Amino acid sequence: MVKPMKISDILNTGRVTVSCELFPPKHGSGMADAQNVVRETASLRPSFISITYGAGGGTSNHTASLAVEAQKHGIPALAHLTCVSSDRQTIRGVLSKLAADKIENILALRGDIPNGQSFPTDAQYHHACDLMKEIQSSGDFCVGGACYPEGHPESESLEKDIESLKIKADCGCRFLTTQMFFDNNILYNFLYRLLHHKIDVPVIAGIMPVTDRRQIARICKISGTVLPQRFRAIVDKFSGNSAAMNQAGIAYATEQIIDLIANDVRNIHIYTMNKPDIAGRIMNNLSEIFK
Ligand code: FAD
Repeated sequence: MVKPMKISDILNTGRVTVSCELFPPKHGSGMADAQNVVRETASLRPSFISITYGAGGGTSNHTASLAVEAQKHGIPALAHLTCVSSDRQTIRGVLSKLAADKIENILALRGDIPNGQSFPTDAQYHHACDLMKEIQSSGDFCVGGACYPEGHPESESLEKDIESLKIKADCGCRFLTTQMFFDNNILYNFLYRLLHHKIDVPVIAGIMPVTDRRQIARICKISGTVLPQRFRAIVDKFSGNSAAMNQAGIAYATEQIIDLIANDVRNIHIYTMNKPDIAGRIMNNLSEIFK
């Protein structure tokens, strides 16, 4: 096993980085398949693998186990952790387990408020920055956070949302991973705004290859993202033919990444939806560019 590296060190090498996101199964019975997905993703040699955290925390052990699995294959792991539905004791328990498992990187998130519910009145953590502070005081972790180039859906303005990112950075957040976006100009505008606010932590651009029409409704619902006309045309034309949609989705994501790297956005994160074959095809398309 290689010595796990902190994500902040990985992002500071000046080279292009490509990371992959996976999600854990809802039930323990899915762990064997999930471990295979981790193994196949690790064989692509991404810069790191991130593992999401089930809302409500019910699958927290799965997140940690899959993070350990990634590191067994020599790939640094980033474990996601959400806080809004958890109390301090639970969070401290998860942090102790991550430390014991030698997981050094945590993406600290508030988590979504469950559908139809209001913000819990007895919440012990109100924002991701509260969790970041807790993590900082709990061990030698490298902490990252989420950001939203089109603004978080609950924010009254992008400006207000960016002010909250400044708070994250001041709470020890060492890098930010973006929500998915399909128009690179949105990211470029966002990066200018971060500069204006003197937020200088590295930003990892989140790219979602859309290879199935059914993904679209969910994407728009969770991220509120704007789908460019060029992208809509592809979905309209090819979604009836799964092989063609696959190819077009991979080509679109590949083009987005080439444009990002050409414009010096060096850190790319692929939302793989647990499809290592798709991540692999994108990485293969970019093999010379990623060297
Ligand atoms: P916060 O940073 O707390 O922001 C939430 C809202 O509060 C925003 O409107 C923000 O502007 C505002 N705000 C933030 N801080 C302050 C402050 N100090 N004062 C006032 N207002 C503030 N969800 C999961 O359940 N599991 C996952 O694994 C997961 N992974 C994700 C990975 C990425 C890269 C992204 C982009 C999202 C992920 N999510 C995940 C979804 C995330 O939990 C939701 O988007 C959630 O609604 C917000 O989380 P946050 O950490 O951005 O919250």
